[in-house]
Order: sequence, then C-alpha cells, then structure tokens
Amino acid sequence: MPLRGALAGPRLLLRRLREVMAEPVNPQARLDKIVVHIASNMVAEVCSVYVLRSDGRLELFATEGLNREAVHLTTMRAGEGLVGLIAESAEPLALADAQSHPAFSYKPETGEEIYHSFLGVPILRGGNTLGVLVVQNRARRTYSEEEIEVLQTTAMLIAEMIASGELQSIVRPGSDIALRRPIALKGSAIAEGVGLGHVILHEPRVVVKHIVAEDLKKEEARLADAISAVRDSIDRLIDRGDQAGPGEHREVLETFRMFAHDQGWLRRLREAVMTGLTAEAAVERVQNDARAKLQRRTDPYMRERLHDLDDLANRLLHQLTGEPFVTANEDLPDNAILVARTMGPAALLDYDRKKLRGLVLEEGGPSSHVAIVARALGIPAVGEIANVTDLVEKGDGIIVDGSTGEVQLRPSGDVEAAYAEKARLRARRQEQYRKLRDAPSVTRDGVQIDLHMNAGLLVDLPHVEEAGAASIGLFRTELQFMVASQFPRMNAQLALYRAVMDAAGERSVTFRTLDIGGDKILPYMQTFEEENPALGWRAIRIGLDRPGLLRSQLRAMLRAGAGRELRIMFPMVAHAAEFDAAKDLVEREIAHLSRHSYDLPRALKLGVMLEVPAILWQLDEILARVDFISVGSNDLIQYLFAADRDNKRVSSRFDALSAPVLRALKVITDKAALTRTPVTLCGEIGGHPLEAMALIGVGYRGLSMTPSSIGPVKAMVMAVHEGELRALMEELLARRDGAASIREELRAYAEAKGVPL
Ligand code: PEP
Ligand code: MG
Repeated sequence: MPLRGALAGPRLLLRRLREVMAEPVNPQARLDKIVVHIASNMVAEVCSVYVLRSDGRLELFATEGLNREAVHLTTMRAGEGLVGLIAESAEPLALADAQSHPAFSYKPETGEEIYHSFLGVPILRGGNTLGVLVVQNRARRTYSEEEIEVLQTTAMLIAEMIASGELQSIVRPGSDIALRRPIALKGSAIAEGVGLGHVILHEPRVVVKHIVAEDLKKEEARLADAISAVRDSIDRLIDRGDQAGPGEHREVLETFRMFAHDQGWLRRLREAVMTGLTAEAAVERVQNDARAKLQRRTDPYMRERLHDLDDLANRLLHQLTGEPFVTANEDLPDNAILVARTMGPAALLDYDRKKLRGLVLEEGGPSSHVAIVARALGIPAVGEIANVTDLVEKGDGIIVDGSTGEVQLRPSGDVEAAYAEKARLRARRQEQYRKLRDAPSVTRDGVQIDLHMNAGLLVDLPHVEEAGAASIGLFRTELQFMVASQFPRMNAQLALYRAVMDAAGERSVTFRTLDIGGDKILPYMQTFEEENPALGWRAIRIGLDRPGLLRSQLRAMLRAGAGRELRIMFPMVAHAAEFDAAKDLVEREIAHLSRHSYDLPRALKLGVMLEVPAILWQLDEILARVDFISVGSNDLIQYLFAADRDNKRVSSRFDALSAPVLRALKVITDKAALTRTPVTLCGEIGGHPLEAMALIGVGYRGLSMTPSSIGPVKAMVMAVHEGELRALMEELLARRDGAASIREELRAYAEAKGVPL
C-alpha cells in the first residue's frame, strides 16, 4: 500500500490539470499546458501525447521536450516503434534503456535520440485505445509502479478531452481522430431488414465526467459505501434465486459475488482513489485495464469471467452516479437502434416497438431467443459483433442491415445514402409482396403450395392477416415460457392459446407442445448439467418425464380449442412409442374435461415433428398413427450432419441443398403420399426461396415460415413449374458425383427460368 505522503505529488498534478481543463483556451494551448505540467510534476524532460487517427496512425499532438516542429507531422502506425507497440498492446511500457528495445524506432525530426528512459501508457476509454501518453528522461532510470499509475490516471483526463471531440479541430487537415471514425462491422444476420438511426445503449455504460476528487476522504467513503451496497444487492438477488431454484443466472451472480469480495480488485480501486480520483473515476480507471485485457483474451471462459467483472464495475458505477440501469422508454429517440452485449427476450419486449429501428448485439446468434423475438417484432437485428458496446457512444449514427449482418457505425453521407436507398427498395419490394397477398399460391402448372406462418408470441398475430398466411403452421408454445420470469400458469396458457385461435379466425393453428431444453433454457426451471444438451433431456422427453407439465399444457389447448378444430404436435419424437404415450396423455385430459362438462374441440388432429433421424426408419409406424407430419428441418439437418445449428464453426459447413438432406426429405413425402398423410416443413429453409424451390421439387406442398418470407416464397412459387422441378430434382439426386452441394445448379436453373429469388 503506497504511503499517503507519496501521493501528494499526483494529487497536486491532477488538481493543476483540472484547472487547465477549465481554462478558456484553444485545444492546442490546453494540450501544450498539460504536457508541461506532467513533465514538471514527474521530473521528466519529455512529455508527449500521441492521438490515434481514423487511418490507424498515431499522430504527435503535443510535446514538451521534443522538437515542437514535429507536432502534427510525426506519425507512426499502430505496432510501429514503442508508441505503436503500446497502442497495439494497450499496456504500459517502462524502459530504462529504450534504445536497446527491439521495437525502438527513431524519428529524426523529434530529436529524441538523447533520451534513454521511456515510460508510455495507453490512453484508454471504454477499453478502446485512443492514443498514447509518454514521458522520457535523459538518464537511464527505472520508473516506479506509482509513476506508472500516475501517468495512467493522467491519461484518463486526456481520454476525456479526446472523447469530447475537442481535438478534432487541431488534427491535420484531411484526417479524423479515431474515436469518431466510421466503422464497418460484420456479424451474423439475425432478423432481416434495414434500419437507420441513432445508438441507444441497453444498460448503458456510465460516462464518468467528474474525474478529479475534491475531498479524498469523502471519495474513499463513497467507494466503500457503493461496494457494500452492490454486495448487498447481489446477496439479495442470490437469495431470491435460491427460492426460485438454482438456474444459470445463479452462476453469474456467484461470480459477481466472488469479484465483489476480491481483495486484489478492491485494493486497485482504493489505490486509484488515493491518486486523487473520484470514486467513479477510480472504478473506470481500474476497469479500463480489465477491458483492454478482455479484448485480447481468446479463451472463452476467461472472456466470460472478465465480462462478468465488467458488468460488476458497471453496477458499481450506476450505484455511484445514481444513473438508471436501463434506458427508459421516454428517453428513446424516434429512430433508436439498441446496442447491447446480451439481451433477454423479455427486455426487448419492454421497449416501445414504434421507436425501435434496429438491434445490435455482441452475443446472440440467429437462433437466440432475443433473435426470435426481434424477428417476430420485425426489428432488423445483427448479432455476434464483438466489443460493439465499447465502440459506440450514445447518439452515434448507426445502420443495421439484418439481411447481410452488416453494421455501419457513424456512416459517411455516401454510405448512409446507399443504405437509405436499400431501405426504400426493400419497402417497395414489400409493397409488391403485399399485392401478392391475396393471389393464390399456385405454380405455373397449377399445383397448389400452401404457405403457412410460424409464430409464438402475441406480437406475431397481426402478421397472420398482413402476410396472407394459409394458417399458423407452427406455434412455438415455449416462447411464452421463455419470456416469462416464472412458469406461466394453466390460465395464462389458456388465455394465449385462445387469443391465437381468435386472431387466426378461419385459419387453423398447429400448436407444438413445449420444446425446451437444448438451447432453449427457462431461467426459473431447474436445469441439469449435460455434456450434450442438444442430444439431452429436451422437448417431448421432458414432457413425458414430467407429465404434470405436459398435461396442464394439453388441458389449456383442449379448452382453448373448444368447439373448433384443434391441431397439436409433439417435438423431437424419436420413437413411435413416444407418440403413443403423448397421445395417451391427451386422451386422459379429454376424459378429465368431459367428466367436468367442458366443451371439447370439434375435431382433434395429432401430429409429430420429424426432427430426429430415427423417425426416417419408422415412417410406416408413424404414418399409421398420426394425422399429419411437420418436418423440423432445423433440427433434422443438425442431427443428420452431426453439426450443431448454433455453432458457427460447423453450422455453415454443410449445405441443406445437398443430396443427403434432399434425399431424406424426399423419402418422407414419398412415403406420406402412400397414406395421404399431410406433410408440412416448418424449418428455416422453407422460408428461403431457393431452398423452397428445391423442396417443391421433392414433393413438399406445405411450407411454414416467418411471415416476412411468405411474399418472396410466393413470388417464387408463381414463377415455377412443378413438373419441371420434379424432373430436375430427380436428375440431380440421381447423380453420384459426391458433390457437397447442388446450390449452384439450382441457382442457375432459377436464373435461366427467370424465377425471382
Ligand atoms: C425445427 O427444428 O426445424 C423447428 C422448426 O423447431 P425449432 O427451430 O423451434 O427447434
Ligand atoms: Mg426443432
């Protein structure tokens, strides 16, 4: 622990710098004064500030000690020389003999050859490097830990100056400082559409404005109070979690608790306050280091833990500044684009839909729950953009292209105009699809292809009409469970199913029983560690092992379907006997309801989802039992190729448009035709025109998809000839060339025939 007396120097420096910050002088004069103060306080002959420009070069912005003529002339690449090395590594570097360091590179115009010792620190903000602050001495000397700390603290003030935009006016003409530069990012497309707007941070980071402490004792006390308040709130959350049963959430909270008591972390915070910072600036300062480290970690476990530490620091900052944790709806601009590290589906539903133009996430792949909700709400969304919350500032211009996965941050006028045009074109195309809404979905040779929609939430219901869907071909009942904070009771389920059937009117609704487990986790339900959750305890397996759960859901469905046709299907059936057991539960519920004089559905149709390859060799048994089949191609394909649908490394490795998949899919329609059992396919591929075209060629007459896909798929259907497609598929699937994909052949065919894709 450093002595209080030893810190008098740094505190004095901070106070001086604060005065300089408040002086009404131009930015260059301010920066010039700052370097003089730092040099004199640290007894250094040189102090220089390098600022990172948008072209990736570091430019000398001010110096005391080096040749003044070099200011705004000397530049270097990140990675070049000692300054470039610091910018790249985001770590301090202290050297007694700088010139013997392998990275040393000499800029003659600066006249730095006479200085031997060198101390440089990154200028960090929100984990981003904005520049480098350097002191140099003629004599060979070793800089102490305290001196490094002091320089890091001072760098925070300069970071604020850069972030305020003040320095933009003195950058060399034609270049920008990096902080405000436009950035093009690429993630994964999770909900299509193009949105232009301004950044709103979900759970925003606190921007620390008061950096220098007025009264050290007071700041120490504020820090101690805030830490104990945050600890208490974590304990309370854990206690509450204990009552609801352990869940995934708990692990995160336990990690929070561990960090909140971590002596190393607490000591670093206290030491930062001792150098003269306010409590919030101390948290920011310590966290800046952690964030910079986080960005260089590749080990996913450590990244996750450091993310947790970052969240904890954010809680502490909110506690200290009293700023609200979540952006309130009143603060949303009319064209808000939400940027978040992660987000639960319920949190997204809390925002005012009318004001949201897009969503950008650091985590969250295409099948994450929040992605499902974003698609249901029609909000363009992009996921898996590393570090994006650190790259943006509230209010920044931003464009989200949920069809390509591109995000343009602070776009230039040209880029913005190009995307605005894209958005207009898309709107025009949507208008054309709307015109197709009432047109029959029939191929050129008169074969009817029914286009149904997938749904799962109340917000989906208006789409039934808008999209002109033939029916709701898949209603994912688990979504209600996933957005709730506790198990929805039977009455809540009943109310939702009734509302869905009412909204569907004459159209039928196919309810799928709870499909949880695997990637679909309910935070309030007890989970078990499983090595391979996708192959584990999920869907109908849970339903049959916990019949109480399934029975109350069946009861809600049967009551909602009173007097109407009710269609129920079971997910992940792997064996005909599982269907029998599920059907048995339905019959028991019917008996129960009859006994209590409830009205029953006018007709009941029971089906299975074909998602597990084992069913391909039980089609005879299954077809003899069911009223219909729905092919869940998302799961079926992942199991056929043994490639996790959510694992980016492998999910795009195999093509659905390939012989093994299409042959398997054809076996299903061929067999079902013999018993005249209706077959629909409700996985993602049904909503892509090219894939849907191939599916028609292997016998599919019903496809269920996200509502926005119905227009494009219908346009394709109306342009193809079923007989021709069937012949084409027969020819392609008869080939034995071992090709991994037949996508190009199909695309060429569509192009030749003028089929819109
Ligand atoms: C499927 O597996 O194709 C399917 C429609 O179900 P889910 O995507 O909900 O698993
Ligand atoms: Mg599935």
